[in-house]
Amino acid sequence: MAGLSLKHIYKVYPNGTKAVNDFNMEIADKEFIVFVGPSGCGKSTTLRMIAGLEDISAGELMIGENVVNDMEPKDRDIAMVFQNYALYPHMTVFENIAFGLRLRKLPKDEINKRVTEAAEILGITEYLGKKPKEMSGGQRQRVSLGRAIVREPKVMLLDEPLSNLDAKLRTQMRSEIAKLHAKLQTTFIYVTHDQIEAMTMGTRIVVMKSGFVQQIDTPKNLYNYPGNKFVAGFIGTPQMNFFEGTLLKKGEEVEIKFEYSDAKITVPYSMMYKARPSYLDGQSKVYIGLRAEAVSVNPEVVKASKFKIKVRVSHKEELGNQTLIYGDINMDGDGYTESSTRIIISADATAECKSGDVIDAALDISKVHLFDKETEQSILPRIPEYNYIDCEVKEGKLIFLGAELKLPPAIKTPDGKYELLIPTDAITTGGKDAAITVKDCENINGKYVVSFELGERTMFAVADEEVKHGKAKIDVDLKKISLIKDGETVVEAMPEKIRLEGKLVKEKVVEQVETDGKFKKKKVIKFFLQIEDCKLPCPDSAATKLITAMGVKKAFTEKLIYECSPYDLTVAEEGISASVESVLDYGKEKFAVCKIGETTACVYGEAYGEVKLLPAVDKLSVIQAANDIRII
Ligand code: ADP
Repeated sequence: MAGLSLKHIYKVYPNGTKAVNDFNMEIADKEFIVFVGPSGCGKSTTLRMIAGLEDISAGELMIGENVVNDMEPKDRDIAMVFQNYALYPHMTVFENIAFGLRLRKLPKDEINKRVTEAAEILGITEYLGKKPKEMSGGQRQRVSLGRAIVREPKVMLLDEPLSNLDAKLRTQMRSEIAKLHAKLQTTFIYVTHDQIEAMTMGTRIVVMKSGFVQQIDTPKNLYNYPGNKFVAGFIGTPQMNFFEGTLLKKGEEVEIKFEYSDAKITVPYSMMYKARPSYLDGQSKVYIGLRAEAVSVNPEVVKASKFKIKVRVSHKEELGNQTLIYGDINMDGDGYTESSTRIIISADATAECKSGDVIDAALDISKVHLFDKETEQSILPRIPEYNYIDCEVKEGKLIFLGAELKLPPAIKTPDGKYELLIPTDAITTGGKDAAITVKDCENINGKYVVSFELGERTMFAVADEEVKHGKAKIDVDLKKISLIKDGETVVEAMPEKIRLEGKLVKEKVVEQVETDGKFKKKKVIKFFLQIEDCKLPCPDSAATKLITAMGVKKAFTEKLIYECSPYDLTVAEEGISASVESVLDYGKEKFAVCKIGETTACVYGEAYGEVKLLPAVDKLSVIQAANDIRII
């Protein structure tokens, strides 16, 4: 039994295919994790890297307490089940299950005990003397499961184990595997392209596309809170309806207009607090996502609803307990082909309507999803990144929603009205006896999303710890805010990352080495991180990571990007040459704006003139510039 930790895992195949990009995940002991996504998205590659069947190009993989990047598969304490069963045809079922244990030279009694137990769990006791060819696909897969569980692995890896089975058997085996997981109390990682399999089995699901993780969440959260259009469309049957549309804010309401049709509804602005105001201009295109069950044709629901659209029915699919009504919100649309006006409605079996009817449908607006038309990311993210608020700058003060903050010298802009962006992680709440009411604090995947009342609206903060309901004070980290006027950012947030260019260098250095009590001069190879004009000693462990990930040649020739925070560079005797252009005074903190080569970077502290900046080597991230792989 063990948890796993995957940190910045990449896979680049020798032919250059980047199969997995920056995979990050902590898997707790006993979880049932499913990797799901269309063919070629990188799920098997990730699983095979965990198994040790593929090298990890960059990143760190831990199973339990151990970093296993360089550990042989047999030493990783994992067992793997494949789609094609991979049984030995000339051996009996017993021998197949016992094979690995015999290789490991376990005592005969122990082997007998484990095989008998596994066969019982899997219901194949009566087949132990048979050969695989005498068995059905489902039974063969049970044998390969048996072979995996007798090893009593810390982690079970399953790669599309049910793909070769027919639909009925697949459903049956699905619940058997879930049962097996509950019984074994072992961490399971399961790969499938079938979203139903993923949804029914996983405690958490990793949705992947084109080598990138799209979202990691519980089945329920993926369904209810998809972070982007791909996840929204991939999870759930029938597929979510997507319409193109625009949003227009009119006072305290927002009009949602569906393109290529006359459909429009008006919803309260409070629903859109998490959305950037530029989406609400009636111009920016969005996708409106509605699941089939978020649309109703039930006459009573329709009668009571304020959110109605017209649908021209094209055909129905009677599924017994429910009917899927296919239609179009464009009265000239055909309702058959997938389009941005086609709609599928889940209705009960008694729903009465026929082809050609134009009916009213009610929308459950609490279940509307909105995505950016270009990036396809949700514009109402569950963990919001920013608060978007109208504000005014007046006589050195920032005024918004009844709050007033004194602006520090670093923020200079003429008096007037602006759009204010406050990142949710720039707001801290605490103290008491203040005007702010904390309405809610929700734990979302380990982060606490705090919603609080400020003036007439809700704002959000994201905290690492729970915040109590009730009255509180807020504090805003003003170096993180931006001010926008007429679509242009006039006050920029201070960059949180500094990126500098450089290389990895090796040099032969003469050192005094002690052998048998005598000192001798010896040439040793030392590694250095060349950052701009500065050469820093590079720890051997970091050099090894870079050489392993990039190959011996490229590691010393290719450009690297070093990334750190403004707090990780300090003024010192030796270091990177920089000239200080100005000092940003945020009140509590000051930052020197430094020119380093072509780069401008804000560095914590007050400094003037020509300086040397020393980076904290252990805080540096190192990125291979050519293919944007974060190696350290
Ligand atoms: P999935 O399991 O999601 O179907 P894979 O992990 O098998 O996807 O593959 C991810 C990507 O890596 C695909 O583009 C595939 O073509 C590529 N790929 C897989 N194996 C190799 C290989 N040995 N050499 C080169 N490219 C590979």
